[in-house]
Amino acid sequence: MSAMLDIPEEDRLILEAIEKWLERDVRPHVMRLEHADEYPHEMVAQMREMGLFGATIPREYGGLGLSAGTYARIVELIAETWMSLTGIFNSHLIMAACVARMGTEAQKRHYLPRFASGELRGGLALTEPDAGTDLQAIRTRARREGDAYVVNGTKTWISNGIHGQCFALLVKTDPEAQPPHKGMSMFIAEKGEGFTVSRKLEKLGYKGIDSAELVFRDYRIPAANLLGGEEGRGLQAALGGLELGRINVAARGCGIASAALKDSVRYAQIRRTFGKPICQHQAIQLKLGEMATRLQAARLLTYDAARIYDAGRRCDMEAGMAKYFASEAAVENSLEAMRIHGGYGYSKEYPIERYFRDAPLMCIGEGTNEIQRIIIARQLIERNPA
Ligand SMILES: Cc1cc2nc3c(=O)[nH]c(=O)nc-3n(C[C@H](O)[C@H](O)[C@H](O)COP(=O)(O)OP(=O)(O)OC[C@H]3O[C@@H](n4cnc5c(N)ncnc54)[C@H](O)[C@@H]3O)c2cc1C
Repeated sequence: MSAMLDIPEEDRLILEAIEKWLERDVRPHVMRLEHADEYPHEMVAQMREMGLFGATIPREYGGLGLSAGTYARIVELIAETWMSLTGIFNSHLIMAACVARMGTEAQKRHYLPRFASGELRGGLALTEPDAGTDLQAIRTRARREGDAYVVNGTKTWISNGIHGQCFALLVKTDPEAQPPHKGMSMFIAEKGEGFTVSRKLEKLGYKGIDSAELVFRDYRIPAANLLGGEEGRGLQAALGGLELGRINVAARGCGIASAALKDSVRYAQIRRTFGKPICQHQAIQLKLGEMATRLQAARLLTYDAARIYDAGRRCDMEAGMAKYFASEAAVENSLEAMRIHGGYGYSKEYPIERYFRDAPLMCIGEGTNEIQRIIIARQLIERNPA
């Protein structure tokens, strides 16, 4: 049940340490935290100690500088135990990637080491009540006033919105610009006067991690926090991190699909009906066979996208395929696991219902699966001109 991924020897030690941590400090507490929808403060402190908040931040700025391949494997392992935890460091790392890729040297030196240590944590603030997929329709506005900008608007669904302190904030600096993306900019926005959390959003799954609505009312942000020091490059900054973000969501999907399979393989050998373990009934064997094949395919797509990313090649099509397939695999495997577990699959005393609640988010985040297929098709045409 394993797919090939080249992991350097030193990264294997990190993976082993994470596996031990998951068994010792995470797994025993997941059910309680999940059902109480409680933020895992202690685990966050442990993730800081392990350097996870700097996993993909370059070493010269205090991070671990891990490859996308190793990072995907870490995400998969953690998601297999509790998917919510991956959101706490992943959107944080996408924010960091925006700064690493497009920030000025002064911004990198100021922010990246603090992001890497986890002293300053946060995420990405793109989505608004009226604009998700269509980011060019955002309304949050930043108006220049001397050496600062004044921001007004609302962001919604922002992961780490309550417990995070800093966000990559997408705004309009010129709402009249045509095409609209030329009037969009990104800021590194730390919480302060005028930047408030208006509410915690209740959701089906993805418990423990905070999703919030953020309100900006005459929030003054120094012009020095304009990412890259130049207006008009906000959409580019937001979209630039998506390849890695999609590999990450694919890895989360693999984690959920794997957990659903592992639990099912175990349960099918223990649960007996009509005088034999249910794994001896062909109907259950067909499910297990499909689940294992789906997981293997999802992993291969994910690792392949990571390999191309690490080679520095364009991988939007491969990352899109991985994200699309692995997230659907998570949905299908969690539903099949529920069927295999019968009534217990529906019980809150087992983790199956959690996989079933968590999986659909993978189909929505980092570009919906509708959009992924459109991206794949566009790339297919572009790479294969008639
Ligand atoms: C738990 C959770 C956490 C999140 N965390 C964050 C976060 O940290 N930061 C952040 O900025 N956002 C976050 N989001 C928001 C998420 O990125 C958006 O929900 C997502 O981008 C989809 O946007 P939308 O919800 O506005 O749907 P819409 O864009 O309104 O889409 C609705 C439907 O129309 C389809 N659709 C839209 N346009 C097209 C098209 N051109 N062609 C075909 N179909 C189309 C979509 O696929 C979807 O099925 C989070 C969301 C959730 C649920």
